[in-house]
This record gives sequence, structure tokens and C-alpha cells, in this order.
Amino acid sequence: MDMQTSFLDRLFDAGLLIDTGIDGLYGRSGQFEDVIAAFERLIDKFGGADGAEAMRFPPGMNRAFFEKSGYMKSFPQLAGTVHSFCGSELDHVSLLECMEVGEDWTKGQEATDIVLTPAACYPLYPTVAKRGNLPKTGGLFDLQSYCFRHEPSKDPARQQLFRMREYVCMGTEQHVTDFRQRWMDRGVEMMKAVGLEVTIDIANDPFFGRAGKMLANNQRDQNLKFELLIPITSVANPTACMSFNYHQDAFGTKWGLNLEDGSVAHTACVGFGLERIALALFHHHGLDVKQWPASVRKTLWG
Ligand code: ATP
Ligand code: ZN
Ligand code: MG
Repeated sequence: MDMQTSFLDRLFDAGLLIDTGIDGLYGRSGQFEDVIAAFERLIDKFGGADGAEAMRFPPGMNRAFFEKSGYMKSFPQLAGTVHSFCGSELDHVSLLECMEVGEDWTKGQEATDIVLTPAACYPLYPTVAKRGNLPKTGGLFDLQSYCFRHEPSKDPARQQLFRMREYVCMGTEQHVTDFRQRWMDRGVEMMKAVGLEVTIDIANDPFFGRAGKMLANNQRDQNLKFELLIPITSVANPTACMSFNYHQDAFGTKWGLNLEDGSVAHTACVGFGLERIALALFHHHGLDVKQWPASVRKTLWG
């Protein structure tokens, strides 16, 4: 049995994660949720004075916005769409017959106007664009959403439905890169306060296909993405628990996000992988929260 399987099994045995029969789709215990809630309060403490506007979107988004985002160009392998039965009574009869004999009953499902949210910030850009020019101070937003990515895995840190807390900043290049640097520093400080050793490294997104290799190299060459890494299931390949993305003016141009003077906004987003952070805490301090170091408990629960 490899290390990953055993950490996942230990999480199941302790009841912290609940097996659904699908890799990467888990229930969470009250204790697991309590750790996430406590860590989110810590995020609030670090980010609270910045005056971000909080918004919460459901885990599904407007399909038209998703299409416009270009997600299918870059990450078709990860996307999840919502389909429904839209047929007649006759179609219903054949649907049930299909299910009865174990044939593929999903073929007749039709796409709805909703797709699963791939990252917490995706619904934000068109929402803000609709408001008109940003104020002089730019924009700062506080988001949290369940996100879907079709990447089934036995690694408990790679889930198909997981929560991302994000701050998104819109403004000049200097403004948003300062924002990103501030959160890199805060990320290191926060993880230290909960007893986790971290490293920060340049990263890239998993762009699809051969053309995607070039996009990934370009992202690295331009220092557009950094990750805060913590060993969870492997020391050699530590897990990205936060990411820090600078989009230049790509989203500003795509969505028509403009500053007060009419120039195109630059944007950056900082994401916390909430399940991954909880898993890092359980991995490092043990599965019994009562046994965690007093300093860590004090940081999280006062
Ligand atoms: P990885 O390189 O591990 O796939 P990522 O680059 O895809 O991570 P982002 O797209 O930057 O990650 O997502 C923001 C944050 O969401 C990540 O820093 C991570 O903490 C979390 N995250 C991403 N994918 C998953 C997943 N499959 N399960 C749990 N958390 C995830
Ligand atoms: Zn984002
Ligand atoms: Mg990924």
C-alpha cells in the first residue's frame, strides 16, 4: 500500500473524511469542518483590515460566462457541465428502459445554462464588469466557493469538489503585484502560526495538450504563478495549499474591466485550498485535534 492510500484510509478510519465510493468526492466530519472554519477566521484576521468586498457565489456559474472565459481552450479535461433531462413523456419511457437494462441513460441529457465553477474567481469578473469603471482605489474582493475539477485521485489532497477561498485584486500593475506579494508574505506567516513549514515556488497551470506546454512555459518565464507548498502525501512533491496568480491585463481585456481613467485593469488572485490546508494540519499535527500543539490550537481557536 502506498503512502497516499494509507493517509486517505486513516482519514476515513478517523471519520474526518467520508467515503462516497468516488475518488475525490468526500463527505467531511464536523471536526474537519471546524478546522476549516477556524482557518477561515484566521484568513479574515489577516485580510480583514483591507476592506475587501465579500461575495459568495454558488458552486455553479452562468455557462455563457464560462464559455467566454476560455476555460475550454485551456483546461477542457477539468471542466464539469450540468446536464438535465428535458424530454417528453415518451423520452422518459425510453430513459427508464435504458436504465433498466443498464445502457447509457445519460446520452439524452441536455446541457443546462449552468456549469460547475472551476475556480472561485470565475463568476466575479463579469459581475464586476457590469458595474462600469472601477473606483479610483481599484477593486478588492473576498470570495469562497466549492469548485469542481475532473481530476479523480486517491490523493486526499486532490479532490473533485473542494473549497477555494480567494482574494481578487483589480487595479494598476503595481497595485495588484503589491497585493500578490503581500499575500505571499502573509501566507508564510499564517502557516508558521499554525505550525506548518512551507516553501514558495514558481508554478504553472496544467494547460491541455501540446500547445498548452508553451502556455505553461510562458507562465513560468513571466513569474505569473507562485504556489505555497506544504508536504502532505509526499516530501518530494509537496502540495500547493495556496496559489498567487497575476493575470496581467488578460482578464481586464477579456471582460472589459476598466479603471477610473478608462485604462484596462490588471488583476491578480490569491487562492487558499481549504481542504488542503486542513489536510496539512491533520497530517502534521495528527488526526486528533485535542493533541495538537497548544500554540496551534490557540491560533485557531483562541
Ligand atoms: P495543483 O498544481 O496541485 O493541481 P492548481 O495549480 O491546480 O494545484 P489552482 O488552480 O491555483 O491550483 O487552485 C487554487 C488552489 O486550490 C490551489 O492552491 C489548491 O490549494 C487548491 N486546489 C486546486 N486543485 C485542487 C484539488 N483538486 N483538490 C483540492 N484543492 C485543490
Ligand atoms: Zn482566481
Ligand atoms: Mg491543478
